Amino acid sequence: MSGFIFIGAPGSGKGTISNQLKTQGYQHISTGDLLREEVKKGTDLGKRINDIISKGNLVNDQMALELIANNLDQTKDFILDGFPRTSVQAQMLDDLLKVKTQVVLFNIDQVKLTERLVNRRSCEKCGAIFNLKTSAPKVQNTCDNCKHTPLTHRKDDTLEVVENRFNVFNNTKTNLLSYYGNRIKVINADQDVQSVLQEVIKLK
Ligand code: AMP
Repeated sequence: MSGFIFIGAPGSGKGTISNQLKTQGYQHISTGDLLREEVKKGTDLGKRINDIISKGNLVNDQMALELIANNLDQTKDFILDGFPRTSVQAQMLDDLLKVKTQVVLFNIDQVKLTERLVNRRSCEKCGAIFNLKTSAPKVQNTCDNCKHTPLTHRKDDTLEVVENRFNVFNNTKTNLLSYYGNRIKVINADQDVQSVLQEVIKLK
């Protein structure tokens, strides 16, 4: 068994490539998705998480780690999407992991990402990701896979919040990348989905 750790700026394609790998039997663990599930439950914890996510800030390292510890099954191949985001999380993850992992950095010019994010729409049922400009759904605002499910625009995919999410990413990136050092494999995330997928698969 083995795992991928996907690191990259918001909108760099980590979720899209994870969805592709899911069809090859990979378990996809996205801390962002797990946090949004908690928000949907409307619990007190969910409300506190919502305050943090909607501003584009990070939840604390311990909470993020608990989501991974409670959901990761290391007897299957897996992808960690959006975790770790800090060097502290990376250290805690190394303590938890028992299997070999590849650390993949999705490299793309951030100027291109704002456009991707504000046009991004997703299906909450199956996790499919669309882009109104580059990969629009066949029927307007409807998931191609689940047919009748309407697509959603994430509340943190607005211009103001996106800007803060980039700042947060840039502020934590240096320490995170220096933690992983030469374990990092950089891929060109500024290509079509199939080309990015092939680059990732080659790293297996
Ligand atoms: P994502 O879906 O990966 O873009 O994450 C959405 C939001 O969830 C982020 O902007 C953070 O507020 C929060 N989040 C996701 N993963 C983490 C993490 N590993 N550590 C802290 N906060 C996280």
